[in-house]
Amino acid sequence: MSKINTIAIDFGHNVNFDIGAVGIRKEDELNKLVGETLIEKFRGAGINVVNCTPSNATSLYDSLNQRCIVANNSNADFFISIHHNAGGGEGAEVLCYDSGIAEEVGNIILSQLANIGIKDRGVKIRRDLFIINRTRMKAILVECAFVDSELDMSNYDYNKVSGAIFQGVCNKFGIGVNSDGIDNINTNSNGSEIGEVYHTVVNGESLSRMSNRYDVSMQRLVDMNDIKDKNLIFVGQKIRIK
Ligand SMILES: [Zn+2]
Repeated sequence: MSKINTIAIDFGHNVNFDIGAVGIRKEDELNKLVGETLIEKFRGAGINVVNCTPSNATSLYDSLNQRCIVANNSNADFFISIHHNAGGGEGAEVLCYDSGIAEEVGNIILSQLANIGIKDRGVKIRRDLFIINRTRMKAILVECAFVDSELDMSNYDYNKVSGAIFQGVCNKFGIGVNSDGIDNINTNSNGSEIGEVYHTVVNGESLSRMSNRYDVSMQRLVDMNDIKDKNLIFVGQKIRIK
């Protein structure tokens, strides 16, 4: 499975000459809310994130071009552009340049979004979109929901939406947890084992549960991981258990 070190994230529009759709809610506002919480989630899981959203632009072309330049200079492994749709419809769709990894990530994201009640409109291959065409790494553009749909906007929860995108990428790239929750044994630069084992925290876990599961005392977990408050661990945090 390919590993990801750096993800480039783009909050669609959000700059002069490039304003998003307006419906029941504003696309710019939702793109930013989803984007910011998505960045937090990736950073919490130990992934580098580059925010490609420009702070100003001189034209629509300049807005899009700046995003691609930042992404291409960042050595990112994957690019995600966050958008919301408008124009009479409902649900989410993912746009990508070709089939393969980007399409697979898109399908996982859409099934995660369907779990929170946002209809799956499918992954669409698009060759005409500047942002996924000009970025050199695998790239997706997520249209998370319709800002002018009563249905999509009535229970809209940006944190759940970014959670679905996060889970989609994590599932595909094996970020955080593998099937038994234990990360691979760390290796040093020569590739030989140094015997450390880590567990990445998933939703609903506590330090005491990890203590029981791995038969390590709570105090040892606290000491090994320099934990300040044993009741405060977060999803995506890597806990050394051995
Ligand atoms: Zn848009």
